[in-house]
Amino acid sequence: MSLLDRRTVLKAGGAAAAVTLTGCNAAPDETGAGTTSPPRLTNSMTSSSGNSVSTVTSASESAPTLTAAPNWNSFARSLKGRVYLPASSGYAAAHQLFNPRWDSVHPAAVVKAADVADVQKAINFARANKLVLVPKSGGHSYVGASTIANGMQVDVGALRGLSYSNGILTVGAGARLYDVHAFLDRYGRSLPTGTCPTVGVAGLTLGGGMGIHTRTFGLTCDRVVSMGVFTADGRSHNVSATSDPELFWALRGGGGGNLGVVTSFRFATIPATKLGFFRLTWPEAQAAAVVRGWQKFAQAAPTTAWGNLHIDAKSNGTLSVHVLGVSTTGNASAAAAQLESFVGAKASARSITVKSHLEAVKYLGGGTTSPRTGFLAGSDVLKGPMDAATITALLGAVKAAARAKTPASAILDPLGGQAAKQPAGGSSWPWRGALGVVQWYSSAQGTAGQTFIANGHRAVRAASAGAYVNYLEAGRAVASYYGASAAKLAATKKKYDPANFFHTPYTIR
Ligand SMILES: Cc1cc2nc3c(=O)[nH]c(=O)nc-3n(C[C@H](O)[C@H](O)[C@H](O)COP(=O)(O)OP(=O)(O)OC[C@H]3O[C@@H](n4cnc5c(N)ncnc54)[C@H](O)[C@@H]3O)c2cc1C
Repeated sequence: MSLLDRRTVLKAGGAAAAVTLTGCNAAPDETGAGTTSPPRLTNSMTSSSGNSVSTVTSASESAPTLTAAPNWNSFARSLKGRVYLPASSGYAAAHQLFNPRWDSVHPAAVVKAADVADVQKAINFARANKLVLVPKSGGHSYVGASTIANGMQVDVGALRGLSYSNGILTVGAGARLYDVHAFLDRYGRSLPTGTCPTVGVAGLTLGGGMGIHTRTFGLTCDRVVSMGVFTADGRSHNVSATSDPELFWALRGGGGGNLGVVTSFRFATIPATKLGFFRLTWPEAQAAAVVRGWQKFAQAAPTTAWGNLHIDAKSNGTLSVHVLGVSTTGNASAAAAQLESFVGAKASARSITVKSHLEAVKYLGGGTTSPRTGFLAGSDVLKGPMDAATITALLGAVKAAARAKTPASAILDPLGGQAAKQPAGGSSWPWRGALGVVQWYSSAQGTAGQTFIANGHRAVRAASAGAYVNYLEAGRAVASYYGASAAKLAATKKKYDPANFFHTPYTIR
């Protein structure tokens, strides 16, 4: 979902929904990552070995000795990048994710890799020292899976080089979505991705990647031609449909942090065309009809049409209902008219616009960057159209949040079209036959937000096939993200990571 739309959601909700987004109120162990006490390092030192100096950055540099294993100093000297320990100046910023909720989780060390060799060294060092390692790209994990208490966070953010040739984009795993679109725009090319400008290309792609082009061109992971990956044994792989095909299959939809650290992607790009946008709003009384109409749209609209249905809780206890739609042919009027005919009622407010590729990217992303934001969210994958009782229950869940003045949204993304087809080389993304994905989103991060999400899950249980791995949730069975791919993913995990080196509560088992 775009930030623009998340902001719109908050505004639509009036006073209660527009409440200032707050930091993390939850217990640190909601990450499942244990407690947050820093490692027992009494000190750290700055090394100086020439220009490509590898530094243990520390606020306390008076005693140049390290009294506890692992030997961070010698490890840091071996790198081009930097190691931040909890006492280091810069650690506080270095370990942060997008959601301030996870600021209380303290890795033993943050490794900012400067090149792929650093990534390999970090894996080998973590393995030798029995540290849990988690990769971080854009840092947007819903559950803070790219940080780990007392483990090693390896930030690949500096690996963000981009090049383009003959329709193929080569991109470092640290690039953010806006970087990718701004770069490709120069060549008249684009990529189907999500819409938040600061989401990392790595996390998004490894878990699937849904957005406005999903129905026309498939998921982000469907466009991957090959990837550079280091596995748990520190070996380098260039995976593709013909090289390590099982790993290639698993990495296209199996979710980040499971099977290795990806350092680069090669993507088959798509044309950067003008896009038609429509935004249709209906009164609350039409809400059930709009959900029914959206379901028909997801099933029967041309694959060039896409529509994101928002049902938002308003602080006065009512619902706001709108669809933000896109036509990749540029003809948004026809797509909007088709949706209205499926709903059986004209929208009470409408806007139709046409935007260039980069205008559309900025519009959907709310700009070129996005501020850190606190939220709670979860999802259900709809295996098919919801029946009348399920639609009533879904609307009831949002309505209950509205009455409780909990900022809350049910956001429905359609699948179908190209997303229903397996890409060449196959993929582990399991929801090819599904109708769409409902995201339950709240900026209330305590019990109120959790209650809304639990109510949402309960409401659509009869229609749910599982959940989307890019919208991870605490406490959910890992297999529920993988449907029919779960067993093969577990076998691939055993083959490439037999000692379960990459393990958190969210990894494949
Ligand atoms: C504001 C916002 C908007 C979003 N919009 C969309 C959207 O429109 N469409 C959509 O499909 N999803 C969307 N998402 C979900 C997003 O795709 C996932 O949260 C994704 O995992 C984020 O990737 P990241 O690299 O930013 O996060 P990170 O937190 O860095 O990583 C996520 C996971 O991948 C692992 N990982 C990171 N880098 C690597 C690597 N190099 N190799 C292997 N594993 C790695 C991490 O360990 C972690 O488990 C959105 C999320 C947010 C917060």
